[in-house]
Order: sequence, then C-alpha cells, then structure tokens
Amino acid sequence: MPSLSDSIHERYLHTLDRISAAEKRAGRAPGSVKLVVVTKSQLVETVRAALEAGVKILGENYPEEAVAKIKAIGAADVEWHMIGHVQSRKADLIPRNFSLLHSLDSIKLATRLDRFVSQAGSHLPALLEFNVGEEESKFGWVASDESRWPELLPEIDMVLKLKKLTVRGLMTMPPLFDDPERTRPYFQKLRRLRDFLAQNFPAADWSELSMGTSADFDAAVEEGATLVRVGTAIVGPRPPKA
Ligand SMILES: *Cc1c(COP(=O)(O)O)cnc(C)c1O
Repeated sequence: MPSLSDSIHERYLHTLDRISAAEKRAGRAPGSVKLVVVTKSQLVETVRAALEAGVKILGENYPEEAVAKIKAIGAADVEWHMIGHVQSRKADLIPRNFSLLHSLDSIKLATRLDRFVSQAGSHLPALLEFNVGEEESKFGWVASDESRWPELLPEIDMVLKLKKLTVRGLMTMPPLFDDPERTRPYFQKLRRLRDFLAQNFPAADWSELSMGTSADFDAAVEEGATLVRVGTAIVGPRPPKA
C-alpha cells in the first residue's frame, strides 16, 4: 500500500498538471498560479506527509489550530497562509505566524491587525475577501450587486491607508456547485471587482486573486486566479472535528 505521503505526492503533481493545462488554455504564462494546499482540520501527521510530498504552501482556516501545527512543524521550507475567518480577538495570532492572510474581511479586523503587526515589528501582506455571491452566511465585504461597488470604496480606502497591512489583491469563496461552470461567473465577477478597485486605487497592489478550490480550480485559473486553495483533492477528506 502506498504511504500517505506517496498518495499526497501523486495528487499534488496531478493538481499541478491540471493548473498548468488551465494556464495554457487561458494563454497565461506557466507558473502564474501558486497552489495552496488546504490542511484545515487535518491531523499533524497529514500535514507532515504533505510536506514530505513536496508541498510548499499550506492553507489553514482556524488560527489556534494552525498555530499549534506551526509550533509542532515549524516554518522551514514552507509558507503558512491563513485562509479562514479571523475573529478580531484572535488577530494577535496572525502576525509572525502567517506569510499571507487571504481572508481580511472587515475594517474592524484590519484595524486590530494593523496594531498587532506594528507591535510585532513586522508587516503583513493581506488579501481583501469579498462575498460576490448572494449567500448571507459567507464572510467578506458584500459585493454581489455590481451597481453598489462604489459604496465599498470609502472602507477599502481606510484599509489601504493602514501602515502595516499591505494589500496584495482579492479573495473569494463563492457558492459551491457540482458543476464548476456555475461557479465561473463568480470568478469573473471577482476579477472585474479587482479591475474596478485598481482603477479607483491605482497606487495599490492588486496583483493577487485567490479563488478556486478542489471543486473548481481549473475554471478559477482560466479566469485569472493567481492562488488556488485546494484541500480534499490533494490531502483527502477532512476527519470529523473532535
Ligand atoms: C476548506 C477551504 C478550501 C479548500 O476546500 P476543498 O474543497 O477541500 O478543496 C479553500 N478555501 C477555503 C477558504 C476553505 O475554507
């Protein structure tokens, strides 16, 4: 029987191949897309197996769980990304531990993070999370109605003015469908929103688009993702939460 690390390795390479194929179909330069392997709720052994398999970027959703894993495993040869909702009272766990926050979803969190990052004497690259679907349960600035995008500008301006947070782009978690073609319009919408923000704030960095999961990352790459977040397709189903 192949080891866990062998099967993760195989699925990791297969995912990288699919990303390359999608880059090619879309006429994008090879290597434009980074693969974040999502290990939320996975055991430390699974994370170790992923590293043995050659994974370079890990995505975690729950700050406390993630910090425990980082303590156990370390940060040599791997980048840890925070991709889940961060409650303001946990903001102090983010600086120092993560090299990118994908899920900056409110001005309140941004302000608190800026203070903690400043105290840590570091800086924190972050992506602004937008809710481009119609689901109320999702985090992020509500951006489903394109005609109301201008209303977002004052708060985004406030985030951009924070000294220690460096905005690098946008992230979204669209509604989940069995058919990725139904998700594609949301990826296109996030990209249009990026162009809209870039027009309004040309001095800021809007280069990253974090979108696409196991179910739909090929479509996300075709629509301009620079970071895809793939969990179960590489590391297998998540064990039930204890
Ligand atoms: C869980 C999760 C993923 C990965 O989902 P899979 O279906 O396991 O690929 C990606 N992004 C976020 C924000 C997640 O919470």
